[in-house]
Amino acid sequence: MSHVIGLKCRECGTEYPGGIQNTCYECFGPLEVHYDWDEIQNRASKEKISKGPPSIWRYSDLLPIDGTNYVDLGAGYNKLHRAENLGKELGLQELYILDDSVNPTNSFKDRVTSVAVSKALELGAEAVGCASTGNLASAVGAHAAKAGLPAYIFIPSSIEPGKITQMLTYKPNTIAVDGTYDDANRLASEVADLNPNWAFVNITIRPYYTEGSRTLAFETAEQLGWDTPDHIVAPLGSGALLCALFRGYNELENIGFVDNSSNIKFSGSQPLGCSPISTAVQNATEVVPIRELDTVAHSLAIGNPADGYYAKEIIHQSGGYAASPTDEEIIEAIRLLANTEGIFTEPAGGTTIAGLKKLVESGHINPDEKTVVYVTGNGLKTQDTIAKTLEQPESIKPTLSAFTNKYNNNSTSTQ
Ligand SMILES: *Cc1c(COP(=O)(O)O)cnc(C)c1O
Ligand SMILES: [Zn+2]
Repeated sequence: MSHVIGLKCRECGTEYPGGIQNTCYECFGPLEVHYDWDEIQNRASKEKISKGPPSIWRYSDLLPIDGTNYVDLGAGYNKLHRAENLGKELGLQELYILDDSVNPTNSFKDRVTSVAVSKALELGAEAVGCASTGNLASAVGAHAAKAGLPAYIFIPSSIEPGKITQMLTYKPNTIAVDGTYDDANRLASEVADLNPNWAFVNITIRPYYTEGSRTLAFETAEQLGWDTPDHIVAPLGSGALLCALFRGYNELENIGFVDNSSNIKFSGSQPLGCSPISTAVQNATEVVPIRELDTVAHSLAIGNPADGYYAKEIIHQSGGYAASPTDEEIIEAIRLLANTEGIFTEPAGGTTIAGLKKLVESGHINPDEKTVVYVTGNGLKTQDTIAKTLEQPESIKPTLSAFTNKYNNNSTSTQ
């Protein structure tokens, strides 16, 4: 007996057996995984989880894969840091950071990809593919290599060189497109239609893919001693991550692992140069897709966000809010996180930290709320972006006198 029944339409509820399919044939609504929650409740326990592997697969009873044929490079089960220094700086009494920059390919995309590529194997797909803003490309390249499947990866040619270098090293078939992410995504969708046996992780098997992000909620709760935060702040690209966090926390309450999930406030952050979801939240309007994007946060530069509508609804109904920091604020936040907490993130993480700062300043997050922030990518991938903004050290002769000259080492004011 499986805990995964199939797929189900989020809008009209029509059920499907499960396969390489993302849209409802009746109403064109998005499909989601249809679980047997009684079976999950029979299988899952906190004790079993505590004895599981140190990766997302410790939550396998809650993930949409039958059997144990996981493509596991070790994504997930990352540290929830108590961020006292940054909390003090921002005026928050209980701040935590889940550091997802330390995944196998250094972004949270390893979670969704590990689930999606495992599902692709289970479904007997001939190849995997994706459209990517940079991080998904490496995650799919790496997991496809491990699974022994060919990969077809569509990227906008404008993404950061560090991300392209990393991805090319895994040696997938790379299609760099002159255009935006949305252009790359459209082309990938057309190629997917031509090749029904290829599994495009964030397109044709998107219902399975997004399930991987729920593990961020599971491991936050587990590391809080099976408790929930009062407020979470997540980056917003397509909006899928925030929606998955919402589902994850609510499912934990439904199976009796935590209480109070319904009290969590969900807030998000998007770079001002590409902020269709944040703008909709701030103005209480619909999410309007945008064509002109301009931001250093390439991994969040999605003008037409697939889950924008649902993300906006969750933020609104939970009592959260959305911020839209400028590129300068994003870069400043990268440096703030590094020099308060020792965590080096890329502009997506800078966007989240800058958003956190703005939400505290505007009173949308209260000082006494237990707040969890998701830092989703690693600064090593985007060194060019940050290097330009740093003061380079002036070199000195390797002599003690040159050092004391520079640092006035006979005084006590050297700190
Ligand atoms: C893709 C990505 C996001 C955004 O995730 P969505 O699910 O598209 O909202 C956030 N941070 C990083 C580092 C990413 O690569
Ligand atoms: Zn439907």
